Amino acid sequence: MSYDKHTQKKPLALVVDDDVSLRLTMGAALAKANFDVIEAENGHLALSLFKSQKPNLILLDVVMPEMDGFEVCMAIRNLPGGKYPQVLMVTGMDDIESTARAFEAGANDFIAKPINWVMLGYRAKYMLRAGQAFRELYINKSRLTKTQALAKLGNWEIDLVSNEFFCSSEACSLLGLDPMDTPLTYTDFLSPIIANEQAMVKQTIDNAVKTKNNFSLNYQVMHSNGTQKHILNQGEVFFNSSGVPEIMLGVVQDLSQLKQAEERIRFLAFYDGLTGLANRMLFLDRLDMEIQKATRHGQKFALLFLDLDQFKKINDTLGHHIGDLLLKNVAETLKKCIRSTDTATRRDKDESGSMIARLGGDEFTIMLSNINNPEDSAVIAERILNRIPKTYKFEGNDVSVTASIGISVFPTDGTTSESLLKNADSAMYHAKNRGRNNYQFYMESLNRAAVERFSMERDLKKALEREEFVLYYQPQINLADRKIVGAEALIRWIHPTKGMIMPDKFIPIAEETDLIIDINKWVLQAASKQNQEWTKAGLNSIRVAVNLSGYKLASQDIIQSIKEALETVGLDAKKLELEITENILMQDNEETLLIFRQIKDLNIRIALDDFGTGYSSLSYLTSFPVDTIKIDRSFVMGSTEQNENRVIIKAIIAMGHSLGKKIVAEGIETKEQFDLLKRYGCDEAQGYYFKPPVPENEFAKLLARGVL
Ligand code: C2E
Ligand code: CA
Ligand code: CA
Repeated sequence: MSYDKHTQKKPLALVVDDDVSLRLTMGAALAKANFDVIEAENGHLALSLFKSQKPNLILLDVVMPEMDGFEVCMAIRNLPGGKYPQVLMVTGMDDIESTARAFEAGANDFIAKPINWVMLGYRAKYMLRAGQAFRELYINKSRLTKTQALAKLGNWEIDLVSNEFFCSSEACSLLGLDPMDTPLTYTDFLSPIIANEQAMVKQTIDNAVKTKNNFSLNYQVMHSNGTQKHILNQGEVFFNSSGVPEIMLGVVQDLSQLKQAEERIRFLAFYDGLTGLANRMLFLDRLDMEIQKATRHGQKFALLFLDLDQFKKINDTLGHHIGDLLLKNVAETLKKCIRSTDTATRRDKDESGSMIARLGGDEFTIMLSNINNPEDSAVIAERILNRIPKTYKFEGNDVSVTASIGISVFPTDGTTSESLLKNADSAMYHAKNRGRNNYQFYMESLNRAAVERFSMERDLKKALEREEFVLYYQPQINLADRKIVGAEALIRWIHPTKGMIMPDKFIPIAEETDLIIDINKWVLQAASKQNQEWTKAGLNSIRVAVNLSGYKLASQDIIQSIKEALETVGLDAKKLELEITENILMQDNEETLLIFRQIKDLNIRIALDDFGTGYSSLSYLTSFPVDTIKIDRSFVMGSTEQNENRVIIKAIIAMGHSLGKKIVAEGIETKEQFDLLKRYGCDEAQGYYFKPPVPENEFAKLLARGVL
């Protein structure tokens, strides 16, 4: 096909002339120059020969009948492969016009008649060589263009002497320039750079030329259609042999996708994927920066810690999908609350330096920069509480939500990010404790004990499902023969880090947070089950007493819980006793009486606990269906020394017996106390003197012994 210097094949020349003698002489000259030669006497024949043989060189007479040389040349150039042959036009002498037309028609060169036949041979050879080089160049250039387009890479150069500028088509497309806008200038090259980077780019390149250094620049360009691209532009200066800068060669590259990937990675590392807010890591980082800034300028700032009330319930009942929607919507509301103070905003950190983050779950934090006084942050907290809609509508579900907010202020409530967060957190728990849907400041008055309490409350919520409660049992013995007749179940909380926590520490908290309802249920179940197991194991049949917190007893649906416990376990009701503190009798007589009656209807025994500590009027005993009276430990404690206590104990026993109640003494620690109570006719007793409360397996051993 085309001439190949590596093969032995000779190049092929086509001579086109209507003059047969000229054809022959030209053919002979070319054959001598080592060409194979074919001939055509007119244009049509020339075209068909070209198609079939693809000559490397064509000698073309201008003046021919039918088709002249120009027409033939143009026709060949338009044929497949027609770009490659070298076309040498044969014109009349001094025919300037023909010469010009020859180039226009696509000829590579021309030769005027009369022809120097020796020269023609050389000319043809050189033309062929140039044509080959041209072709290779052409192929390389188109390869380069394709590679550049693939790599999103373009090249450009400036001739530093003539100031001529060149820019490859890929470079033009990267920069948003029109390659047809010729001649492109260096100024055009700089024009798409975004305004605030233009001067920097120009200066860097100028500098590189001056200092004869390479440069590498990263900047953004804006195309006329508004597209922005990140460009990497790297250039190098070339010098002539005497060290004068001659040319600057450069490469531009599209970094936009890379930048996007980088942004995404950065986003995922520092932002919460669900809400788009900052995550804990970014927030802590900004908080540290804010602390430094505020310290330097003597400023105050506030940290708001927001937690949705009962979010877990929403998540559990309506599903995570709705939970997520809720979190997203709350995040939007928060953004609006913070931004309504400022117009110019960036993603999550507005111009005033405030910032919102989601720490995880339903916990959000808000940093309010440079406040004048703590009350400023209260305004924002109030705004947030007001703007969180009372109900959201998600996919047909009405979702009600409120939030509790705790506020800590730098530097009064802490000077480290850790202490500020911790204190805002405990202030938030304080808000929850105050009935939720409100905000609270952390103040020094919120002392250590309170903080401890809040953290305990948080843990207590999880204690049941984590099965951290256990029951200990304290034997109750018959004073006459020291036989074990009963046991009091006493709850302990095995905290994962704090170890065993006694009920006095956590029962009051459980009462305030309504957790007591579930705890009561659990104790009833566990104690009933245990008692049943002892019986099954063939141990002495006893009664187990369970302490029921009197707190809002009426609203606890306690009867249902008791029935359930007995039924699931299959325990005889007579073997269960409920200890209810005397104070309950003061609360609501009607309600309490009803509950007592219902308990009695179930055939369950009731013991009045801590008797003597309240307004213990014995008169109550006549109206309430109580089986047992437990004399409070405080009377027993001083009974052997103080006459007064002895008198009270005597009176309680006498009075109780006259009403047909059983009397149990609590907290017997010494033999003297034991003897005294026995002498006074007390029925039963419990206390360290016999046994402190013990775990279930130890109690089983005591029961096997039967007597203490
Ligand atoms: P309580 O009902 O008066 O229980 C008796 C308390 O006195 C128990 O304390 C017991 O360990 C302690 N005790 C027994 N004998 C002696 C003694 O000889 N000397 C002294 N100094 N103390 C003695 P504990 O187990 O710490 O329980 C404290 C309180 O916590 C109980 O007082 C009761 O009000 C409450 N509680 C315990 N378990 C439960 C429970 O399961 N549910 C509810 N609602 N309250 C419980
Ligand atoms: Ca008790
Ligand atoms: Ca008691």
